[in-house]
Amino acid sequence: MLIGLIGIRGTIPTAQSPTVSILVENEYLFDINPEFIYSFSIFREKWKTLNENGQLPRYIATTGTPSLAKIKHIFITHLHWDHWGGLRHLLHYLLLFEREKRENERLNIYIPQYSTIPLRIRLIGHLKLPETVQKKIPVDSAAYLRLMLMSEFGKRVTKYINIIALEPGEKIALKSNWTLYTQKTPHLPLGSLAYKLVYSKEKINLAKLKELNLPTHLIGEIRNNPTGVRYNNVLIKKSDLFTTLNLTFAYSGDSSLPTATDLWKFYQNVDVLIHDCSYLTAEEGYYLESHAALEELVSELNQRAINIRYLIPIHISNRHKLSEVAEYIARLKKEHLNFEIIVPSSFSWIFFNENHLEIIK
Ligand SMILES: [Zn+2]
Ligand SMILES: [Zn+2]
Repeated sequence: MLIGLIGIRGTIPTAQSPTVSILVENEYLFDINPEFIYSFSIFREKWKTLNENGQLPRYIATTGTPSLAKIKHIFITHLHWDHWGGLRHLLHYLLLFEREKRENERLNIYIPQYSTIPLRIRLIGHLKLPETVQKKIPVDSAAYLRLMLMSEFGKRVTKYINIIALEPGEKIALKSNWTLYTQKTPHLPLGSLAYKLVYSKEKINLAKLKELNLPTHLIGEIRNNPTGVRYNNVLIKKSDLFTTLNLTFAYSGDSSLPTATDLWKFYQNVDVLIHDCSYLTAEEGYYLESHAALEELVSELNQRAINIRYLIPIHISNRHKLSEVAEYIARLKKEHLNFEIIVPSSFSWIFFNENHLEIIK
């Protein structure tokens, strides 16, 4: 799985340090920062330079240069400006350059259900709308966002996009082998979601195949027959020949430490967990009811025996230089941890499979 870290900072960007946007497999975008078009162009140029200089590993280079046209799905964790502010710019771009393409293949935009309710309440309050008019303003978040975008771009924008409101606990098949899951986070009382993306593939056990000396036409039959297939007087079941490979990535959006066990469970067996760590330590006076601190998160993951392979802290305040973050992580690593912590950086890529993880900067 290839994860592009376009931006890793929280709330307020600097020119070289954008806020959070994560691009998986060039297709799935998690959160769209306000400076998205600008930060994406740096991200893309860096890819091209690395590729031209032969610095990209072969299997990564083959996924191709990232481009806006390749993005098929945008998953927004919540409607704070630093997490979705770039959507309008992207839609302007789409209406200028991608209309033909998107007419056949719409851009899918996912937002948490209920996340537009605070906007709706404010709108009704500011305009002091009579009750008959209030009723016409959608409560459903997808319908509300569609109305907002139509008021800015005109009705034509709806020809090129789908807006989907997601609730916690959903499971969506995106395409074959790729599934998305959602879970509620404690960041906002209404509408903030964590996402989990799973790549799942059946793998054939080659040693076993050789040992059984199976004719190839039986392989498909074994895969599809729940009771198994008899060959040379031996009953061969699917589980004898196939194993399932799962690669899992999860992203918390903004989130304090999970307050519900459901969310801890959601992170169980994740390979790469990208979690909000707006703070390094849980100092008093910070917004710890809605954001997390790295030190606390690491100790909770450890104590609760949450099985993950890699933790990437993200949404890190620009108050902390990356060198400071790296030093801090080095100190945490001295404790006995069941997982690796990766020092994040904007405009970088993480590639991982079942055996290893590689960072390309
Ligand atoms: Zn944020
Ligand atoms: Zn937020």
